[in-house]
Amino acid sequence: MEEQKVWVPHPSDGYQLGQIADLAEDGATVQPLDPKRPAVTVPYDRLYPAEQDDNKDVDDNCALMNLNEATLLNNVRLRYGRDAIYTYVANILLAVNPYKDMRQLYSSEVIKKYQGKSLGTLPPHVFAIADKAFRDMKVLKQSQSVVVSGESGAGKTESTKYILRYLCKSWGSAAGEIEARILQANPILESFGNAKTTRNNNSSRFGKFIEIHFNDRMSVVGGYISHYLLERSRIVGQSREERNYHIFYQICAGAPDSLRKQLGLSSPDHFQYTRLGCTQYFADKESKQSMNADRQSADHRKKGPLSDPNLDDAKDFARLDKALATIGLGEKQRLDIYTTVAAVLHLGNVAFEDNPEDRKGGCMVSPSSAQSLATAAALLGVDPDELNQALLSRVMQTSKGGAKGTVIMVPLKTHEAHSARDALAKGIYSRLFDYIVSVINQSIPFSSSSYYIGVLDIAGFEYFTVNSFEQFCINYCNEKLQQFFNQRILRDEQELYEREGLGVKKISYVDNQDAIDLIETKGGILYLLDEESKLPRPSAVHFTQSVHSGCGGSFRLALPRKSKLRDHREIRDDEGFLVRHFAGAVCYQTDKFLEKNNDALHGSLEGLIHESRNAFLQGLFASQAATNGKAPARGKLALGSVGSKFKQQLSDLMDKLNSTGTNFIRCIKPNPKMVDRLFEGGQILSQLQCSGMTTVLQLMQQGYPSRAPFNELYAMYKKYLPKELARLDPRLFCKLLLRALGLNEHDFKFGMTKLFFRPGKFAEFDQIMKSDP
Ligand code: ADP
Ligand code: MG
Repeated sequence: MEEQKVWVPHPSDGYQLGQIADLAEDGATVQPLDPKRPAVTVPYDRLYPAEQDDNKDVDDNCALMNLNEATLLNNVRLRYGRDAIYTYVANILLAVNPYKDMRQLYSSEVIKKYQGKSLGTLPPHVFAIADKAFRDMKVLKQSQSVVVSGESGAGKTESTKYILRYLCKSWGSAAGEIEARILQANPILESFGNAKTTRNNNSSRFGKFIEIHFNDRMSVVGGYISHYLLERSRIVGQSREERNYHIFYQICAGAPDSLRKQLGLSSPDHFQYTRLGCTQYFADKESKQSMNADRQSADHRKKGPLSDPNLDDAKDFARLDKALATIGLGEKQRLDIYTTVAAVLHLGNVAFEDNPEDRKGGCMVSPSSAQSLATAAALLGVDPDELNQALLSRVMQTSKGGAKGTVIMVPLKTHEAHSARDALAKGIYSRLFDYIVSVINQSIPFSSSSYYIGVLDIAGFEYFTVNSFEQFCINYCNEKLQQFFNQRILRDEQELYEREGLGVKKISYVDNQDAIDLIETKGGILYLLDEESKLPRPSAVHFTQSVHSGCGGSFRLALPRKSKLRDHREIRDDEGFLVRHFAGAVCYQTDKFLEKNNDALHGSLEGLIHESRNAFLQGLFASQAATNGKAPARGKLALGSVGSKFKQQLSDLMDKLNSTGTNFIRCIKPNPKMVDRLFEGGQILSQLQCSGMTTVLQLMQQGYPSRAPFNELYAMYKKYLPKELARLDPRLFCKLLLRALGLNEHDFKFGMTKLFFRPGKFAEFDQIMKSDP
């Protein structure tokens, strides 16, 4: 007999196949099948048995005999190799981004094919999950949600769009007007909330939960979108080779001449906020262009160097304008939006320099940017001198013995004026984004809804070389989602075993409540951050120290220097903290936490906006509470604090998820190059681990992952059996069948309504049935 093959870790492939050469007390020595690779010695818990046939893939990973991360990775790899990008692990869908056009997978015919089919009857598909959500809603009379997760570029947003399309196309009303609007919401959200990054050319820089509402006859009646954590820093600057939000380039490239003139628009390389990330990009394109034909450089002149060859900004602007009209915005309203966008661009061109005449060290607007200041002021509907004044100084209230004193103007230093300008730009744009979402919501209203299906598209666990407040918030969110995932998957599984009377002992798992507590409870990190900002002189160092002294008891928290993280930047203990997340330890650098947690404008800018003649702009700031759906919540703390607002939003979201039936889609990015046909095993493995899949497999390996109702088995197999047997009732039929086949009693269990199989045993059973005449 052939030696048992095993999987052992491999740095770039994730796992490699080998054969055991030697067994010692603390580990095994394994010779990889590839003879060129050296033998490796690994501890026993890093070694997994391979399937007998390691070249055979299965639709549902639970059909394998050995459920572990190595066989899962191999199964996904085999399938990816033949363009089968979807795989189930029981009811969870894994989706590998194909990075190529797979149009044939999503046609109207395919939509029809999946309607009303149980999961597993057809090849794994995102439509099958959408259909399951719909059927569960109908049968169980309960709202449903689909949680789509994965790292940037993994395919979350595309998957979300397919789900929405499936639901709207399948169960839309006759007129189709609401569905058209729901589907139109996507290009709008993408113009204002997506940007080109190094990880994804069309990266959503916000999270969203889209609800499709149904009436009691189960047709679509409307929708509602909640959004989370728009990335504000991008508005005023980007990393190399990244862009600002698409809208800025679209408006520059696509606005009709009259509008361009009215708003003072030109090429995006004339605006500081749109050119920052692209110096490198610019240089690359220039050099390529000099080698290329004239036609291209003519094109280049027309579009400007910041256009992306894969994007047609001008066409996208036309599409956006139409989409805004479709959701009901008239010309005036669209102009208001474009004016606001242009104002942000001009504001970014206002530069400051030290004022030699000011002995208090104040600054002034650089003479060369006086025109930008004037244009920005005109578009914002404020007096240029007042804008000038508000950007150059800060209002301070002196306090004497606790009593409020007189108001004084404190001149700002050059760098402070730059941050004041950026704060204004960020404040305006993020409120514009809130407004955009709120008008979309107004365009898909519903008066009465019986149920909804919500789709959550939000960034997965993030871990970079430098991690700041954004990563902190997103990883906090992922802790909550992970806990929900664990509870749902484990609870559902155990409840099922109980309901079916299987007598399987309880399976425990690592709960991450302590990580969540570290962040969100009173005395936790977010609380300490809000407390710090209430101090007369808040400081990053003091905040960091208070985290270490206040939360130092938690196992989840550590000093950065004690960490042995390979790729985090060396920082001092008072410059950050380390959190041991479920998906790995992350070191956070705290220098920008205070600033990023603060959503409020400083007094003089706030005052300026309130006196604006631009009613639209005023409305953006006035109706903030209204557009967010909820008033900023209890207590003064919440006002202006990004962290506490997010905490509240997350808590609302978790309430929703908890009250719905849930389906999970785990998206996988096959390689960082964003190309097709490249399976980087090591990185894919770490995504599987981060998404909690390997924990699920451990659970399944201990339990009975394959199951089928007696009546389904009966229907499937009766044709293979003599007539006398086929007359029996389904449960008895299955009992006799298994006895006749002489299957090992440890391999299956009889439930009340279903037959349960140990890993891989259902496939074996199926094989025998179909081969035995
Ligand atoms: P995420 O939202 O997870 O960051 P996206 O959904 O934006 O990722 O996907 C990134 C890119 O990958 C898309 O712009 C598209 O080019 C490609 N992509 C993702 N899913 C698919 C798919 N199912 N078929 C074809 N291309 C896809
Ligand atoms: Mg996205």
